[in-house]
Amino acid sequence: ATPTALMAASGRGARLGIFLKGYQTLESTRQVDTVVLDKTGTVTTGGMSVAELSHVPEFPRSRVLRLAGAVELASEHAVAAAVVAAARAEFPDEQTPLPEVEDFTNEPGLGATGRVEGHEVLVGRAKLFTDRGMSVPDELDRRRAEWERQGRTTVLVGCDGAVVAVLALSDTLKPSAEAAVRRLSELGMRTVLLTGDNEPTARAVASEVGIEEVVAGVLPGEKVAEIERLRASGRSVAMVGDGVNDAPALATADLGLAVGAGTDVAISAADLILVRDDLTAVPDAIRLARRTLGTIK
Ligand code: ADP
Ligand code: MG
Repeated sequence: ATPTALMAASGRGARLGIFLKGYQTLESTRQVDTVVLDKTGTVTTGGMSVAELSHVPEFPRSRVLRLAGAVELASEHAVAAAVVAAARAEFPDEQTPLPEVEDFTNEPGLGATGRVEGHEVLVGRAKLFTDRGMSVPDELDRRRAEWERQGRTTVLVGCDGAVVAVLALSDTLKPSAEAAVRRLSELGMRTVLLTGDNEPTARAVASEVGIEEVVAGVLPGEKVAEIERLRASGRSVAMVGDGVNDAPALATADLGLAVGAGTDVAISAADLILVRDDLTAVPDAIRLARRTLGTIK
C-alpha cells in the first residue's frame, strides 16, 4: 500500500475507535485467521457482583464478607471488586470499616490470600484450595456445581485451613459481543474463548455469544502456551484481552488487541488498542486491514 493509503487507514481506524501502534500492524491484522478472546472484562463487562453466598453454619454471611472483603481490598481483580462491594454493603456503617490485611499475596489466575485479625484467609477458585490440600464441604460443593452449571463464576472463601463459604458472581455480556463474534465468523475467523474461569461457566458464555471453542481453567502462563500451540499449528492468532493477566498472551499472539478500559499493562503489550469498549471494533480492524492492503474492496 502507498503511504497515502496507510495514512488514510490510520485516520479511518481512529474514527472507528481503533488505534494502531504502527503500520506493520496492518499486515499482521490482515493475516489473522484465529481470534482468541479472554472472557472476564473482554467478552463480559467484568462489572461483577456477588449474587449468591452459601456458608458453613459457624461462619455467618457477615463474617465471611468481612474476612473476604478485607483480603480483596488489596486485589485488583474483577472478582475482588465484587467481593469488596458486597462487604461494604453488608457494613454500610462507616464506623465499622473492613479490617486491615497483613501478608497479602495475589496469586495470579487463582485468587488472593492474607491474614485478617489473626486468621489465614483465602479467596479464589477451587485450585487455590486443592493445591493446599483443602477440600470443599459437600453442601458447599453442591451449590458451587449448581451455580457453575448456570454459567456463574464461583469463588471459595477459606479460613484457617477450612473452606467456609462459596460465592456466586454475576457478570453481564457486553452488548456488542454477539454481533462481533458473528461478524468474525463471516470473515472466516475461528473463534476461541480463553479463560481462567471454570469450564461450565466458560461454555455458557461461549454458547450465548456464538464462540466455537473453549479453553477454560487455565493459569496466565497456560494462556501463553495455548497461543503458542495455535501458532505452532499454523494459525495466525489475534488475542483480545483487557487485564494484567492477559499481557503475556497479548505479547505472544501475532496480533495483540487491548480493549477499551484495559489496564496499562495490557495496553502496552498490545499492537492494537480498541478505544471504544465495543467488540465489533475487532472485525472492523480486520476489514480495515484487508481493505487497505487490497485483499477486499
Ligand atoms: P479470566 O481469564 O476470566 O480473566 P483470571 O485468569 O484473571 O480470569 O482468573 C481466573 C479465576 O481465578 C477467576 O475466575 C477467579 O475464580 C479466580 N481469581 C483470580 N483472582 C482472584 C481474586 N483476587 N479473588 C478471587 N478469585 C480470583
Ligand atoms: Mg480478563
